[in-house]
Amino acid sequence: MTMILSFNEFKKSEYSRNPHFLVIGNPIGHSLSPLMHQAALDFHDINAQYHAVDLAQADITDFIGWLNRDEFLGCNITIPYKNQFIKVVDHIDSYSSEAGVINTIAKSDHKLIGHNTDIHGFTSPLLQYIDQIEGGRVIVFGTGGAAKAVKIGLEDLGVEEIIFVSRTPEKSNLNSDHIWVETVSYDQWQSYVDETSMFVNTTPLGMSPNIGRSPISEFDGKLLGKKICYDLIYNPIQTKFLKQADEFGAITINGLDMLIMQGNRSFEIWTGKTFPLDRIKKLLINTLK
Ligand code: NAP
Repeated sequence: MTMILSFNEFKKSEYSRNPHFLVIGNPIGHSLSPLMHQAALDFHDINAQYHAVDLAQADITDFIGWLNRDEFLGCNITIPYKNQFIKVVDHIDSYSSEAGVINTIAKSDHKLIGHNTDIHGFTSPLLQYIDQIEGGRVIVFGTGGAAKAVKIGLEDLGVEEIIFVSRTPEKSNLNSDHIWVETVSYDQWQSYVDETSMFVNTTPLGMSPNIGRSPISEFDGKLLGKKICYDLIYNPIQTKFLKQADEFGAITINGLDMLIMQGNRSFEIWTGKTFPLDRIKKLLINTLK
């Protein structure tokens, strides 16, 4: 079981005196990162531990000071801090600069480097479908933080058109200098289906405990037939959206691979080694069950 510590508890604990990686967020109880990263550290016999720290806003300044300690090796950053640490680090990678958010801090020559590994996590499971996606149109439900990472990932994969679907399309600020981007309402996306190769759900609809929800109505389920349907949600592993897609013969991708591959990229940046992927996938599936 993952132990959750406040920053003060962490500082006072023996863990803080040993080499460590952290994931910070608030709340952080749901995070599967400690499980996968500790398993990978143990697998490679790396002398370090990975802990979850529930960071209060009031502790941020104190935490920033902590980043320069020798025992601190790196961290993952999750909600609500993904766009707060970009100003704290010395350098950022190109994905972070495009997305305006970082989810990973690494150290190099005593400098703090910010990375965004969510985009890599999103695109990794799609590489095997590149022929179907490249040059085509994708419909994306939701226009939040994850949708922005999805947009950059799809641009990278050579998608030519993205149709975002929003409850309030007039408020969308998703656009692109490189490809055609449009935001439409839940009554309009149906007319874009013909030229579409893939649907992506970036809304929380269907996430545990509200597992009966989906961005697609029962009536529209048939429109998913033979397309690629990708849900960013990993709990449950098979969402209602993916069940609808399955029913109509679509190719389905769940959010677990994205979660693992973003973690794998962070781990690679920190240690130069990769996750034992099969072992970690089994571990997470058993935990989510
Ligand atoms: P978010 O900002 O809270 O929500 C995303 C968007 O979904 C919102 O901007 C909103 O778009 C739409 N939405 C929210 N509530 C809705 C509702 N009740 N009905 C219809 N639409 C709704 O979340 P996020 O950070 O982008 O994350 C989105 C999902 O991706 C979450 O389920 C998260 O767990 C998952 N995720 C997974 C991974 C992974 O590694 N697998 C990584 C990141 C995120 P509109 O206002 O435009 O309708």
